Amino acid sequence: MTTTQTRQDGAVDLPHGMQPDPNPVPGCVSCDHIATDRDRAKANGDASAVSDCNVRLNRHSRDVHA
Ligand SMILES: [Zn+2]
Repeated sequence: MTTTQTRQDGAVDLPHGMQPDPNPVPGCVSCDHIATDRDRAKANGDASAVSDCNVRLNRHSRDVHA
């Protein structure tokens, strides 16, 4: 009897320093603009553009919504 089992561990640990995607503030045109850029980058599978948009959104949130 073979005891080969395919195990799937569902939990995926995010490495420290990796933040979840920042959320745009509803009603803010700048947030909406960046979020739209990010959605397009995601649709294109452009991971570096996605993270670029996240950086812009984080910076904008700190500057404007803090
Ligand atoms: Zn905003």
